[in-house]
Amino acid sequence: MKENIIVAIDGPSGTGKGTLARLLADHLGYYYLDTGLYYRAIAYLMLSYHIDIGAEDEIIRLANDLKLEMKGDRALINEEELGNELRSMEVNKLVPKVAAITDVRLIVNDKIRRYSYDKDIVLDGRDVTTVLFPNALHKIYITASAEERAKRRYNQMKESGEEASFEEIVASIKARDEADKTRKFGALKIADDAFVLDTSNINVDESLKLLIKYIERVKPMNLKDLYINFMIEKGHKQIPSAPVVPENDPSVLFNTAGMQPLIPYLMGAKHPYGTRLTDYQKCIRTNDLDNIGDTYHHTFFEMLGNWSLGDYFKQEAISWSFEFLTKVLNIPVEKLAVTVFAGNDLIPFDQESHDLWLSLGIPEERIARTTEDNFWIAGETGPCGPDSEMFYWRSNDPVPETFDTEDVRWVEIWNDVFMQFEKHEDGTITELPNKNVDTGMGVERTTAILEGKTDNYQSSIWAPIIKLIEEISGLTYEGNEKSMRIIADHLRTAVFILADPAGIKPSNTDQGYILRRLIRRAIRHAKNLNIDINSDWDQKIASELMNMYDNYYSELRDNRQVVLEGLQNEKVKFNRTLEKGLREFEKVTKDNQDIDGVTAFHLFDTYGFPLELTEELAREKGLKVDVDGYHAKFKEHQELSRTASQGKFKGGLAGNSEIETRYHTATHLLNAALKIVVGPDVHQRGSNITDERMRFDFSCDHKLSDEEKQKAEDLVNGWIKDGLDVRCDEMSKEEAIASGAECMFIEKYPDVVTVYTIGDNVSKELCGGPHVKNTSELGHFKITKEEASSAGVRRIKAILD
Ligand code: ATP
Ligand code: MG
Repeated sequence: MKENIIVAIDGPSGTGKGTLARLLADHLGYYYLDTGLYYRAIAYLMLSYHIDIGAEDEIIRLANDLKLEMKGDRALINEEELGNELRSMEVNKLVPKVAAITDVRLIVNDKIRRYSYDKDIVLDGRDVTTVLFPNALHKIYITASAEERAKRRYNQMKESGEEASFEEIVASIKARDEADKTRKFGALKIADDAFVLDTSNINVDESLKLLIKYIERVKPMNLKDLYINFMIEKGHKQIPSAPVVPENDPSVLFNTAGMQPLIPYLMGAKHPYGTRLTDYQKCIRTNDLDNIGDTYHHTFFEMLGNWSLGDYFKQEAISWSFEFLTKVLNIPVEKLAVTVFAGNDLIPFDQESHDLWLSLGIPEERIARTTEDNFWIAGETGPCGPDSEMFYWRSNDPVPETFDTEDVRWVEIWNDVFMQFEKHEDGTITELPNKNVDTGMGVERTTAILEGKTDNYQSSIWAPIIKLIEEISGLTYEGNEKSMRIIADHLRTAVFILADPAGIKPSNTDQGYILRRLIRRAIRHAKNLNIDINSDWDQKIASELMNMYDNYYSELRDNRQVVLEGLQNEKVKFNRTLEKGLREFEKVTKDNQDIDGVTAFHLFDTYGFPLELTEELAREKGLKVDVDGYHAKFKEHQELSRTASQGKFKGGLAGNSEIETRYHTATHLLNAALKIVVGPDVHQRGSNITDERMRFDFSCDHKLSDEEKQKAEDLVNGWIKDGLDVRCDEMSKEEAIASGAECMFIEKYPDVVTVYTIGDNVSKELCGGPHVKNTSELGHFKITKEEASSAGVRRIKAILD
């Protein structure tokens, strides 16, 4: 994985930050860059890396931009000229840019503040470090008291034999500090998300240790380990993440929260690991699908959780949440706010949680009381209780004193649920004898916060994927955020669904339908970015995603090929019709008319557009889709093709790729052939189609002989060779019956039906379609199996190759 880790270190002079930065770089094996003279850094990079980084052109271009003149292995720098040059450039983008093309892990030190003094660079005077190093993953501000700095300077001067007066040094340092506060363009302020280390009373070794500890702590993918270790220290046992598809819970398609797989234990069953549990759980929330494209909702995300099963309660849960956030993650209390349950007719205000937060240092104005969002119950009755959510101020705007829950700059990161009561059938509520705690914290949101990002996708969790999409598309994230986020998000979810032991494949029902929607929507957005959708773009992104996660989830290691093939197959299937479907969409909306149900269904049935995709396309044009009409048409079709004996779909809806359409037509031919070979009493009893084979059940009282099978095969292949046209007519049910059309359960059909006729009455059936236009499209037909299905019903499996 490519990584550009920039650690920016700054602080007033005389703190020894240079030494610390160099030591830290040594320890971490990062490059060290003293940007004291900003442009020298550029030269340094050029000279140091241009041989083996494979980006000479870029570097030379930069050198030209900077008008650097080389002499031997050194850059000649005319400071004044260069200073002017730099001023006219977007200097704040320069160093990160160099770092990006050189792909280095970098520690930059010193004078990060320097250009804030410059009148030509507009700074808001608030967040100096981030202005020059917006991409810095870590910002460290090293400081010490004026006296301490003076002492160090004094000793240094004495050592080198310089004249020195301690008082004068103190005075000059203080004057400089004062000046920093009154700069023309605003006082120098430390970046909000900087880690501040005061070295006044600690030596270099100790300082270095603290820096290392800080860096290790906020290492991006390490949040999970930090959390689990913290909870283990508090007496919890780690339990493994459950699969994304619930194993014994048909009430939901996917696990939506860490507590989902634990419901039986929260309801009272004994857990084999005891009463204190912790884990990270893969979650999928399809109800958040419409939010995807914003900065902090994902369809798949990881949730950290800790549980008490009748063990500890509010006191411990809340104080541990607070301790983890503020002590382990170093999140400043000033940026936190919480909600507590306000109380209603049945249940009182959660005074206890309120008082706990207050005692820990959350001020009254930052403790909001709400009812709706702060009460948890799984169903209508059963265990329930208040919860308390933690929010982080994720914005560069100043933090308001009072917590307004409507302000979206406050982002929820963690939720502690207290299962305190039981709700009974008659609506009354009683206290539970055994109270539970269930908490959930989002890994993506918290990581973004730790890295000072206001957009999850710019955190280290997503950045490599976004960068890859930038590379593949040749476009920048800026200006294409929505499509890039959707591609990244949906493919990640698809990867985890495909890798799940449940073996889900794209289909038109349940989890398979969600999977199909996600993949197809990702493909559509890839097309938006002009990515060649037939290329291996999806395979590249999925591979990168699996590399990122397979340390944590073994199914990604085991099912790598399954995932890649699953994506590939669905892509090929959809790509076949996507182009045509989009053209059809443009055609039907060319006069900006809303989309009726029949058209929406046609887009689904013929072009494989999930309804939601049509809706999204319509929304982009400001048009509406008749969703009810779509569902009515869907139902009609379903009934048309349902085989009443089995309640199964007949081909058409089980898939709509070209191959499935071909199989669909082949069933009609086989049906007709069997009537000739076996007798006119043969009737269809069911069928099922996948893109690999067809299955056809028919009434027949004996096992087919090899000869009969061969004859049937020959008949079908003969009709294919004849290139017969397939005609579709709409007529009344009575007319259809009178015309001798074959149909399984006439009463199931609506009054107006479609009849498909192949050739000159080779086959005539009531059917919803879809079918090929001509039998020559079918390929070669071959029976692979003939067996008993049930009493009086035989089953044939056949393929087209
Ligand atoms: P929101 O209101 O912001 O959607 P929520 O109330 O649905 O959040 P919870 O159900 O309490 O969230 O889930 C617990 C935690 O899981 C949240 O605090 C958040 O950190 C994380 N989380 C929830 N939904 C998502 C999502 N769609 N993507 C990423 N993280 C999420
Ligand atoms: Mg939510």
